[in-house]
Amino acid sequence: MKTAELFEQKTVFSLEVFPPKPDADESVIYQTLEELSDIQPDFISVTYGAGGGKNGCKTIQIASDIQNRYGVESVAHLPCIDLKREQAAEILDSMQENGIENILALRGDRTDANAPKGDFEHASDLIKFIKENYDFNIIAACYPEVHPESTGAVDDLKWLRYKVDCGADHLISQLFLDNRYFCDFREKACIAGINAPIEAGIMPVTNKRQIERMVKLCGVELPKKFVRVLEKYEHNETALRDAGIAYAIDQITELIAEGVDGIHLYTMNNSYIAHKIFDAVQTLISVNSCIRRA
Ligand code: FAD
Repeated sequence: MKTAELFEQKTVFSLEVFPPKPDADESVIYQTLEELSDIQPDFISVTYGAGGGKNGCKTIQIASDIQNRYGVESVAHLPCIDLKREQAAEILDSMQENGIENILALRGDRTDANAPKGDFEHASDLIKFIKENYDFNIIAACYPEVHPESTGAVDDLKWLRYKVDCGADHLISQLFLDNRYFCDFREKACIAGINAPIEAGIMPVTNKRQIERMVKLCGVELPKKFVRVLEKYEHNETALRDAGIAYAIDQITELIAEGVDGIHLYTMNNSYIAHKIFDAVQTLISVNSCIRRA
């Protein structure tokens, strides 16, 4: 099923996982997927490391297994910065042969490991390429706190609108810890004529170092009340995990009340946390879905 069709019927609840590292035990991800599939999420997306080489095969395999072994819709991420057109076509052919219908089309971060090859400068170039040559449902990324490389909020929205005009059917946001950024962004996107559904990306925080790294990489603000939680519980792993779960539930509760199109949970491959959060918000999601259909 194409993910964009889901939003006509309900408030979407989806999950993200990442493939195991090349030398890791592969059975762990399958155990995690088994546990995550109990939630019956609307889809599970699988990340793809830019410059990933063999890791890309794992993305395709895992996305295909999510559909065929666990009966859950899947989305395969695809960063394009270091691909030539022929390589992108090979990967997309393989995704198509594996029955994958949904692609999260990304540029990927610029790093020393993935020198741009020149064929795809932006995600919009990949979106156009997919639209011209394939029949995938296309998803794109968006940034409530503005992409760190952007020349400003207006330009960022202009290019987001361009991605939708090129063929993105559905958007998933970068993580944010202050809902005001997402709500303001959603309003501005609407004014800018961006009419694709926007899922809110929520990352439950379990570890101080992890969140500090993400904040630095993604240019996301740490709200004061969140910093207080981090400082209070940073030395107690269980307390920090539980506080992170409570914070994410609070964010999601407010977003659902605001009528968000969907919640995309960055699970960090932690099924315990995903279950705790889903259990707390599933009734809210069902009620919101009924309101949406009415
Ligand atoms: P783009 O849309 O190309 O935007 C990048 C910058 O260029 C922005 O500042 C934008 O305003 C500007 N811009 C966009 N289009 C144009 C244009 N046509 N002309 C001029 N300027 C333009 N990375 C991975 O490597 N693997 C993953 O699996 C992965 N999954 C992700 C999932 C989500 C939900 C999100 C939010 C990000 C993910 N990323 C992933 C990270 C992503 O690749 C980076 O954030 C990257 O820096 C930008 O990717 P993009 O697709 O948003 O790029």
